[in-house]
Amino acid sequence: MHIILASQTAEEVSTFNVVGDLKGSEHPEQVVIVSGHLDSWDLGTGAIDDAAGVAVALEAAELMQQLHLRPKRTLRVIAWIDEENLGRGHLEYAKVHAAEIGQHVAAIESDLGASHPLGFRAKISPEAAARLQPVLEVLRPSGANLLLLSSIAHAFAGTSIKPFLPDPEGRVPLPHERDVPADIGAGASLSSADHLIE
Ligand SMILES: [Zn+2]
Repeated sequence: MHIILASQTAEEVSTFNVVGDLKGSEHPEQVVIVSGHLDSWDLGTGAIDDAAGVAVALEAAELMQQLHLRPKRTLRVIAWIDEENLGRGHLEYAKVHAAEIGQHVAAIESDLGASHPLGFRAKISPEAAARLQPVLEVLRPSGANLLLLSSIAHAFAGTSIKPFLPDPEGRVPLPHERDVPADIGAGASLSSADHLIE
């Protein structure tokens, strides 16, 4: 077997998390994070991992605006930087926000592609899981109401809730498949992924 790798380590540059708040009406100091991540180590453009997750997070805030819903807590949309490598984006966030980290009620990251979700994985207490039942009921008609509880050891760093399980028909390319254009990952594939695997 002969393997040729073209990867390389470039010089360090300054990069940033991108953060936007929809201020809460009753508890603006309490924060719910919805997020994806900006960086990628894919051979392609990072459309599925994780431009799609950033689009999902942005859409959560956009839908609230369209429906004229004002969240009681602050909805914070974050596009993390350096999620794939050393996690310096979320580590820096934790450092900068150390004083108010206890006011963070939930952190959600969408990071497993753009296919139809079947549910989500969560690192939460049984009491919190019970309180998610109304959410699961809302998700039931679209078939996205599975809840998989993660142990702390099994959890992904930085976030407490994230989608899980890819499209059961297997039509969507794996997150790190090469050459998926970013504009497709952030747009059309969210509703139809058929053309991604020509
Ligand atoms: Zn990712």
